[in-house]
Amino acid sequence: MRAAVLSDIHGNLPALEVVLAAIEAERPDVVWCLGDLVGYGPWPNEVTALVRERADLCLVGNHDLVALDAAGVGVEEFNPEAAAAALWTRDELTPDTRAFLETLSPQASRDGTGLYHASPRDPVWEYVLGGEAAAGAFETVSDSLILVGHSHVALEFTLDEERLSGDVVGAGTELELTARHLLNPGSVGQPRDGDPRAGWLMLDLDGRRARFERVEYDVRRTQDEMRGRGLPRPLADRLAVGL
Ligand code: ZN
Repeated sequence: MRAAVLSDIHGNLPALEVVLAAIEAERPDVVWCLGDLVGYGPWPNEVTALVRERADLCLVGNHDLVALDAAGVGVEEFNPEAAAAALWTRDELTPDTRAFLETLSPQASRDGTGLYHASPRDPVWEYVLGGEAAAGAFETVSDSLILVGHSHVALEFTLDEERLSGDVVGAGTELELTARHLLNPGSVGQPRDGDPRAGWLMLDLDGRRARFERVEYDVRRTQDEMRGRGLPRPLADRLAVGL
């Protein structure tokens, strides 16, 4: 089975459109989305509708939960700009978008693969960016393949017997899945690894291979819409540099 994996779209419709076109060209069997459909970006309803139509499985992320004002997940967890965008998004969500997001879970399992918005230890909030968090992920669950989003950084960790290794990965990186692996496809709509292009991941689960992809999109169109809608300017500015 071949699966395309995307995450952290954050209301960025131009980025999602180019990623979905690239995914379509690959003709995967399934499309998996790891959450954070909304928050930061100016098209939360359009992005949610498109993901709902195209993804076979979709998780909910911390930004989705905050936009829903879901119990126990507060806007006070965010920095001031993210909080302002979250409150803007909360006002913007249509009943239809809200109803769909409310059905989603932050974790799922498919064909021996564990999918989490953030991490197995804390599917909503924990960032897996270093060895301690990665080791915690491998200890918490037994899946040979773990997929996470949330950090907006494309990366891989490998646990081969007792040896843990891992790093940030660039566009076009291909991996053979020969041990236990934790992979983050990077972010579609707000990359934070210095590459402003939209990220996603192509998995061949039978052939045990993974390929990290990046694709250019019209950053200016998203920035213009964000500024026009009065979203915090630094959130628009950062899209140009991918940080
Ligand atoms: Zn996110």
